Amino acid sequence: MTSHTYSTDLAGIGIGPFNLSLAALAHGVTGLRTRFLDQKPVFSWHAGLAFEDSSMQTSYLKDMVTPVLPTSPWSFLNYLVQQGRFYDFMAARFDTVSRREFTDYMAWVAHSLDTCQFGNQVRGVEHDGHRFVLHMDRGETVTARGLSIGTGPVPQIPEGAPLGQNCFHGVEYLAKCPDIAGKRVAVVGGGQTGAEIVLDLLRHDPMPAELTWLSRRSAFWQLQEGGLVDQIYTPAYHDVFLGLTEGAKQAAVKAQKYSSDGLTPSTADEIYRQLYRHRHVNRRDVVSLRPGRTVSRIEQRFGGFYLNATTPVGVVEELNADIVILATGFKIEVPQCVDPIRSRLDVELGGALTLDGRYRVRWDGPEDAPIYGMNHGRQSHGIVDPQLSLTAWRSAAILEDFTGTDIFEALRQTSRGLVDWATGHVDEDVLRIPA
Ligand SMILES: Cc1cc2nc3c(=O)[nH]c(=O)nc-3n(C[C@H](O)[C@H](O)[C@H](O)COP(=O)(O)OP(=O)(O)OC[C@H]3O[C@@H](n4cnc5c(N)ncnc54)[C@H](O)[C@@H]3O)c2cc1C
Repeated sequence: MTSHTYSTDLAGIGIGPFNLSLAALAHGVTGLRTRFLDQKPVFSWHAGLAFEDSSMQTSYLKDMVTPVLPTSPWSFLNYLVQQGRFYDFMAARFDTVSRREFTDYMAWVAHSLDTCQFGNQVRGVEHDGHRFVLHMDRGETVTARGLSIGTGPVPQIPEGAPLGQNCFHGVEYLAKCPDIAGKRVAVVGGGQTGAEIVLDLLRHDPMPAELTWLSRRSAFWQLQEGGLVDQIYTPAYHDVFLGLTEGAKQAAVKAQKYSSDGLTPSTADEIYRQLYRHRHVNRRDVVSLRPGRTVSRIEQRFGGFYLNATTPVGVVEELNADIVILATGFKIEVPQCVDPIRSRLDVELGGALTLDGRYRVRWDGPEDAPIYGMNHGRQSHGIVDPQLSLTAWRSAAILEDFTGTDIFEALRQTSRGLVDWATGHVDEDVLRIPA
């Protein structure tokens, strides 16, 4: 085991899309030293949900760099050119890129940058009064003036769920590859992850003996899309959002839920067509879609599972299943590796780190020792924070803050948007939005 110490300016924990964008944009900044560390042996992105036809929900132009630095070598378009497939890609006229191809693009960036290192788990983070000290699982140490926490969301598991080979979070779906032929399968969760899993099960041959899809949502709501909705995924709206009161921020995030968290129309349509075929053409009535059900209990019984699902009027439905797949979402929490300084960090009620307008975590350390929180800003920076739309823009803002220099002209050239937002209001749509 080695015990080297490396010194850098900015250290990133985790290399998902968010810290990867920071690494890619930092690479061109003269005089700035960075080091990004990930515990995985190689780059991957939600591999357990990378279905053959899963598509990106955001444009490929919202890649790691393009929105702020289209001349960067780490753009999706340059990836296509370097792979020799630019013309083949353009002729395909895709509306959206597959998640597999976008993952391949990000892996190309991550493994081209000498500042990204895989197979390195950060076990502990301290601050010695001057610098952060990161302790790695291999015995190495990295010291840095600033830190970017990009450890990503973790699966949200209903309390008491008996996890195991046949009861697991959807994020493991492809890795578990359960034998579903002739089994009773329950999928819990009515978002896009649940929908993609249900679609995969509907296409399976042979089918499960029974397939039940339960969702707490009152219906299988689709994504709200279009240019006007997309205005809330712009830097201009982000700035308006920062100026809202705390109450207005919460109300806005709630009202905007289905602009990012609904089913993509193509997945929803394909599920519907599969259901139609099963019921009316193949005359196999084995699928049950149950919205408005909150799964309140999952127990292991007689080699299978017993579930309780409660309707909005309090009726408790019972269900038996052989396999339970939890598409119950993800949550953001403070990663264990920062335990040594956790008591010095400000944490929101929901478990995310509290961020200021510059994406800095509020903490009691020195002003010139910033900690940036990636994916911790849903409440403080808006619904755009956990998705890719402003990833490059946020990375650029962080790099300017960290270096104290104007680097990315795009940050000052961005349009003020096409909508004149009211400021400081509580969005009344929240009263009408489906639960
Ligand atoms: C299935 C799925 C599809 C999505 N599709 C889209 C989409 O199309 N468009 C969109 O805008 N958003 C999408 N999102 C939302 C969002 O873009 C992703 O959740 C994204 O992965 C978040 O990136 P991240 O960098 O925060 O975290 P992650 O991608 O989760 O990466 C975190 C990394 O940190 C590493 N790590 C954790 N702890 C340590 C440690 N102690 N030491 C070292 N490394 C560590 C992990 O190994 C991991 O690689 C999707 C989300 C899901 C679940």
